[in-house]
Amino acid sequence: MIAIYKKLPKTNCGKCGAATCMAFALKVKTAQALLSDCPYVAAETALECEEKGPSPFSNFEQVADALEKEAVTRDFPKMAGATGCRFEAIEGRESIAIRMLQRDYVLRKDGLFESSLPCRDVWARIIICDYLRRMGTRPMTGDLITLGHFPHTASHVKAFQSNAEKKISDRFGRDMSGLNERCSELGGKETTGQVKADFSCRFDLLPHVQLFLSFWQADEEFDAGCKLLFDSSASDHIDIEYLAYLVERFVEELAAA
Ligand code: SF4
Repeated sequence: MIAIYKKLPKTNCGKCGAATCMAFALKVKTAQALLSDCPYVAAETALECEEKGPSPFSNFEQVADALEKEAVTRDFPKMAGATGCRFEAIEGRESIAIRMLQRDYVLRKDGLFESSLPCRDVWARIIICDYLRRMGTRPMTGDLITLGHFPHTASHVKAFQSNAEKKISDRFGRDMSGLNERCSELGGKETTGQVKADFSCRFDLLPHVQLFLSFWQADEEFDAGCKLLFDSSASDHIDIEYLAYLVERFVEELAAA
């Protein structure tokens, strides 16, 4: 990320859509943006970086291309019905509307679109197209489990705890009303009963993938704590690695501001 940051003007002008050059460098590193999205990076520099392959970006982009190609060939009405999305056919043009992290996307036969433009966010393309083409069938079970309880997740658990759960408890340790406010801004619905916590909230990450946030605020004796839980059916609807990444992105938004 620092290597990318060094190529930027460091003026934090915001024209790339990121609040700062450092935030933009992180987006490039995690394949959510291209270096050429900064209008102040010389075209030759951007081209040189993108041609230096195989880079993580080019790998992710290949995955996104493959998943998108597969998703657009599927039966749209069937896929929308199975995934809880809205199907439309206007003048013979089929589309599926899907919401992820408070943003609206549309899959058409010519690809995935965001705000009527081809979606440039590689990870959104990967996660949405994979979710749609899977057409998971398992209904929600009501059993809430941590990421580590899904199979083959041992290598992700530590990173997930520090990039997601610890980040929330550090940021909102003594500010539960701030957490409550951010959760409702991000579409969360306060819940009670499932987990005994000071504050619990449910989010629809995707139509059939829910996230349950449980939070215990800090007091004189204990540090703040946070647990992020999922319905045990989630692995039928989304690849668990993608789920971990999606939640980390969600936490970045939650902790921002
Ligand atoms: S457009 Fe370029 S200079 Fe401006 S904030 Fe983004 S990365 Fe920084």
